Amino acid sequence: MSIAEYFSSMDYGPAPEDDKAARAWLASHHARFGHFINGAWTSSSDSPSFETQEPANGNVLAAISQGGAEDVDAAVQAARAAQSGWAALGGHGRARHLYALARMVQRHSRLFSVLESLDNGKPIRESRDIDIPLVARHLLYYAGWAQLQETEFADWAPVGVVGQIVPWNFPLLMLAWKIAPALALGNCVVLKPAEFTPLTALLFAELADRAGLPKGVLNVVTGDGSTGAALVDHAGVDKIAFTGSTEVGRIIRKSTAGSGKSLTLELGGKSPFIVFDDADLDGAVEGVVDAIWFNQGQVCCAGSRLLVHEGIEQRFVEKLRRRMETLRVGPSLDKTIDIGAIIDPIQLERIASLVDRGIEEGCTVWQPTGVALPSAGSFFPPTLITGVSPASTLAQEEIFGPVLVTMTFRTPDEAVALANNTRYGLAASVWTETIGRALDIAPKLKSGVVWVNATNLFDASVGFGGYRESGFGREGGREGAYEYLKPRAWAKLKQRAAQPARAAALVDGDDSDAGSSAVPMIDRTPKFYIGGKQSRPDGGTSFPVYSPEGAYLGDAGEGNRKDIRDAVAAARAAGKWSAATPHNRSQVLFYIAENLSARADEFVRQLVERTGVSRTDAQSEVDLSISRLFTYAAWADKFEGTIHEPPLRGVALAMNEPLGVIGVGCPDEQPLLSFISLLAPAIALGNRIVIVPGRNSPLMATDFYQVLETSDVPAGVVNIVTGDTRALMSVLAAHDDVDAVWSFGDAAQSADVERASIGNLKRTFVDHGKQIDWRSRDAEGFVFLRQAAQVKNIWVPYGD
Ligand code: NAD
Repeated sequence: MSIAEYFSSMDYGPAPEDDKAARAWLASHHARFGHFINGAWTSSSDSPSFETQEPANGNVLAAISQGGAEDVDAAVQAARAAQSGWAALGGHGRARHLYALARMVQRHSRLFSVLESLDNGKPIRESRDIDIPLVARHLLYYAGWAQLQETEFADWAPVGVVGQIVPWNFPLLMLAWKIAPALALGNCVVLKPAEFTPLTALLFAELADRAGLPKGVLNVVTGDGSTGAALVDHAGVDKIAFTGSTEVGRIIRKSTAGSGKSLTLELGGKSPFIVFDDADLDGAVEGVVDAIWFNQGQVCCAGSRLLVHEGIEQRFVEKLRRRMETLRVGPSLDKTIDIGAIIDPIQLERIASLVDRGIEEGCTVWQPTGVALPSAGSFFPPTLITGVSPASTLAQEEIFGPVLVTMTFRTPDEAVALANNTRYGLAASVWTETIGRALDIAPKLKSGVVWVNATNLFDASVGFGGYRESGFGREGGREGAYEYLKPRAWAKLKQRAAQPARAAALVDGDDSDAGSSAVPMIDRTPKFYIGGKQSRPDGGTSFPVYSPEGAYLGDAGEGNRKDIRDAVAAARAAGKWSAATPHNRSQVLFYIAENLSARADEFVRQLVERTGVSRTDAQSEVDLSISRLFTYAAWADKFEGTIHEPPLRGVALAMNEPLGVIGVGCPDEQPLLSFISLLAPAIALGNRIVIVPGRNSPLMATDFYQVLETSDVPAGVVNIVTGDTRALMSVLAAHDDVDAVWSFGDAAQSADVERASIGNLKRTFVDHGKQIDWRSRDAEGFVFLRQAAQVKNIWVPYGD
């Protein structure tokens, strides 16, 4: 070809990356790998194995060991043995190790990126310029938190041994997101990479050992889902951190229920990409390319639902099609390609069958004519689907491939409604030149991350994680550090003695007190408090309440499913509370305190009579309750977000948002103080609650609604249902309109709640039957506020 011809065609020639070093590393292991446990390879010859392949051509890269329960056990034991020494090393010691790991990754960045692209099929440009630099950034960032741990997290201790399970789409990056905070804060790790992409994790473990990481601190056990399940089930693991599908997240939630293991879940998504008519359309087209064709669309936060303002749809789609014609699909090591290979033929088949389903449902499928696919390997062309209705399969299901569906909207409200019309809530992009509009929309989107005029921005300093069925917990940022810590005060709590329902000491004593006088006292039957009104139990039944000495105190309503449903509906309808200003919420909490104070004598008397405590103790419980209300009135307008400064021209606004509707179960001890200690942080941050007092002590709560009624608490913000606490909490945990559950009082109840929460994967905050001293300072403040909020990170890049 002459130079003139080159200019006229402007075609790219192939520009393959050199893979010699990666292949030499594989050859140095005879392309067979054991697990990496306690600083050494296990023998690869004695265990069953499977193959990992190059998605770009189907060639086998290596044989990988399939880990069994014994391998997992050996790794957990190694991690356990190493953990106290690793924690004792102190923040600075660990910071030096994390720094060494970051430098190790930078030194071998080419080897890591080539190996990643070989094993995963992603374009080398992405692994070289995005994945691997972010891995190093994460390790460096958390080296910083390790250094600051003793001052910044003084009241927190490491969780212990952490089992971490990662998917195949960003194999080494997900490893870094998980191990960097875990190791930095004094935990030891057993990591299970995805079966399709184990190689970079194994290389990392080997090089980390060479970089001096103490033995047993990081262990890698390879295998499929059964290996992951063995890790989840291992009794020696204190926490599971999982990234993967919502389906497996649910299984893990269920199997860890009641085990006391802490859990974070980073799950799937179906993220909206919203383009308003005043957006920079060319910029937005490039945004779409990045949103859905980065990593072949195999991205949990891929902008896979394009929502376009109706008036510009045609113009925008035309521009997009023109751009799609220029995308290059090809082998991962070619530096000129935009879209690499799909991870595996199974995934390719899944994408194709979902697209077929779209056709059956009447959608229109468009693929560029000029894009050639390689003849071997797993490739799928960039695909645009129009004529999609909000309810169609393609608008709801995560495709996890290079397939974009489009819909239109007319007004900003409609855009928000469409965007939120999904069970997921991981990320969203908003494109508009009107910053006021973007910042108005961002808080209304139910997602953990919002990018304004941008997409797929990630940084170690900015938390990442989902709302709703996209999981709970955050990775990155200071918020990500707390996921690997536990409050020191909580670690010392004792298990609460079993609390049998109180029975009457007096035979037939129910009405005997009343009977002693000729004229009975005027009956005051406590009711429920739902939607700002007192209401009677749906079932028309009540249960007797006794003092610890067995004296009959009165009857309380026996709540059932229907009562809980009504209470949840009332809480759901009180959405204005979540949008109220923090000042307004603070004021209401002060009013509640004021009104409790006005009736303090009555509450003291009732506590003495009902719980048998001395007058002094009862007075102290009431005083502390008032003080606690003041604490949360204070926090209501001070638990503010943060501005992160990731390395770009722009900021990320980390906002503490309410979770929505929280179901709260209270213990019997210190019934007024514990009730207020749970109610106040939840509503201070804008949640609405359905609160169920302890079975033996419902009357302090039912007295309290008179305080609420006089304190300007809007209807539906606090709803009180009494009855069988454990049973009612299970109903709340299973209710799909409840966003989180807090359960205090009983280990079996904690287990029930965790198990029942899998439906919409609500966040849970439970005491596992540990007895909290509600009088202590540890029973208020950040630990509770953190549970009452979810962090949304809004990225706002700036400049032209
Ligand atoms: P997957 O859930 O099938 O597998 C993820 C990991 O879990 C793998 O290591 C797998 O071996 C393991 N696993 C499978 N069954 C298990 C079980 N029963 N117990 C324990 N471990 C088990 O997901 P995938 O197909 O590898 O990854 C794609 C999914 O991951 C998508 O849904 C995607 O959205 C999600 N993802 C989420 C994020 C995030 O941060 N939210 C990031 C990347 C990927």
